[in-house]
Amino acid sequence: MIISSAKPFEEILELLKDEDDIFVVGCNACAAKQHLGGEPEVIEMCERLEEAGKHVVGWVIPSAACSVVSFDSLIEKNPAIKDAKTVLVMACGSGVSIVSSVADLPVYPSNNTESLGGRSQGEVVPELCAMCGDCTVYYFGGICPKGQCPKQLLNGPCGGAIDGKCEVDPEKDCVWELIYCKLERTGRLDLLEKVWTVEELTE
Ligand code: SF4
Ligand code: SF4
Repeated sequence: MIISSAKPFEEILELLKDEDDIFVVGCNACAAKQHLGGEPEVIEMCERLEEAGKHVVGWVIPSAACSVVSFDSLIEKNPAIKDAKTVLVMACGSGVSIVSSVADLPVYPSNNTESLGGRSQGEVVPELCAMCGDCTVYYFGGICPKGQCPKQLLNGPCGGAIDGKCEVDPEKDCVWELIYCKLERTGRLDLLEKVWTVEELTE
């Protein structure tokens, strides 16, 4: 899941200050799960834009904004987009980019895209994977230090954790403590014998 956060409404209005006849595109995937681009948020955005003096021509919520195949597919869902002069996309940057690639209109984002995360036990969990292109998470019990350790340490902890909490971000558990415990529980502490070289770290 792509983790995003909502831009302040004032910032969105500033982005749209020279634009009107706005069509709003939500996203029924990651953005909806984070309450940033599902139907309630899209309807609320339309109402707030109208209250701010903007004309909203319509809205649509594709199953995933990052998988919109064509402008015609948006017209099929809501023909009002043909009257739009501007599109506001309530999705991640990938969704904004894909909508922009099929719509010959100015396209604006309502969200800030932050990281690749997920959901666990009903909670949104950010920054799980740094998308390094060479997945070695197996060596770390499935808990990625590239994505989750602020220092991105691959050869063990920095030693600064206090009571299991990260010295950089005390709100979070030290990821290296989590890695150690997971490998211990699964009988794979031997994986920690691997020493990562500079070459491997920079590949
Ligand atoms: S090693 Fe970590 S950052 Fe790289 S792809 Fe795997 S989970 Fe993502
Ligand atoms: S305390 Fe743990 S998670 Fe935080 S920077 Fe050090 S090793 Fe990484």
